[in-house]
Amino acid sequence: MIVLGIETSCDETAAAIVTDAREIRADVVLSQLDDHTPYGGVVPEIAARAHLEHLDGLIRRAMAEAGIGFGDLDAVAATGGPGLIGGVIVGVMTAKAIAAARNLPFVAVNHLEGHALTARLTDDVAFPYLLLLVSGGHCQLLAVEGVGRYRRLGTTIDDAVGEAFDKTAKLLGLGYPGGPLVEKAAARATNPARFELPRPMLGRPGCDFSFSGLKTAVRRHVEELGGVLSEADRDDLAAAFQATVAEVLADRCARAIRRFKEDHPQGGALVVAGGVAANKAIRSRLATLAEKQRMPFVAPPLRLCTDNAAMIAWAGIERFRLGESDPLNFAPRPRWPLDPTAAPVIGRAG
Ligand code: ATP
Ligand code: MG
Ligand code: FE
Repeated sequence: MIVLGIETSCDETAAAIVTDAREIRADVVLSQLDDHTPYGGVVPEIAARAHLEHLDGLIRRAMAEAGIGFGDLDAVAATGGPGLIGGVIVGVMTAKAIAAARNLPFVAVNHLEGHALTARLTDDVAFPYLLLLVSGGHCQLLAVEGVGRYRRLGTTIDDAVGEAFDKTAKLLGLGYPGGPLVEKAAARATNPARFELPRPMLGRPGCDFSFSGLKTAVRRHVEELGGVLSEADRDDLAAAFQATVAEVLADRCARAIRRFKEDHPQGGALVVAGGVAANKAIRSRLATLAEKQRMPFVAPPLRLCTDNAAMIAWAGIERFRLGESDPLNFAPRPRWPLDPTAAPVIGRAG
């Protein structure tokens, strides 16, 4: 089975060709970074127009790299939400057009399900598993019990982790997107223990997260330093921030592991996914936790942590081989929680 995947939910335009034998035949990603950098964040209208301009060419490139034509496809999968709606519409309409013209099944993929199932594309990961989903818009702990079967154990009550990285990077004058820049600055730190930051929710019951206090604490340190940071100040603060986030994530995961093991005595892996999963300090902190808990630990390769279309094609394959597909009147969803039974958190996409 060969599937074309399309991703347009944020500021990466991406197309990929993936097979049900877990072969990534092509995986092209075009970052719109330069379009948005002058504004210090993603501008939805600019993103939608850039997707429209580049998507056709990217699909052609992916097909050429895979050495296939439309006639070789078994299905087309596109991100159907959640995300910036203008971009999602571009991807969904393109996928529907190909599906209609070629009489192919269309699968609308939940972007978060794409992140959630990536580990099964790259590694032998069986259900159930405990997933820490850490991305630009989300921070959740989920028991993944099957395709389409997600039980939310915890979520952030304010900022997502990626968002906290991006805002902290801004405070430190590091630019956008913040995650990779904070990681680089932290690696240069000569005195990573110099700043003490609060550890929100640490030791508290439950598996929820909170990051806005952490960001405020970074701001306070910046103000105390007179608003002007030396390189050493900046690197040491970045290191403190990153270490604190890693510690908080590990603490919340440790609690979720207890609950996961109660519900699933047969066990399962600890999996991390989403853009922030590309952070090496966080990966290594979680690997240590998993080892202590005698759980296998799986983190996708770095380029499949941040947004890409291979994960969308793969999630499409997982659903399609269970007999699922979507009608051509599928309406793009700006919000689409993975666990619709979980209580909504005000202001978050689920
Ligand atoms: P969502 O998946 O929730 O809809 P998104 O698609 O925008 O949001 P992703 O592409 O999955 O998010 O992840 C992007 C986020 O990951 C950004 O906030 C970015 O700063 C963060 N990120 C990327 N690389 C790293 C890194 N090395 N360390 C920390 N954060 C990182
Ligand atoms: Mg992005
Ligand atoms: Fe994402």
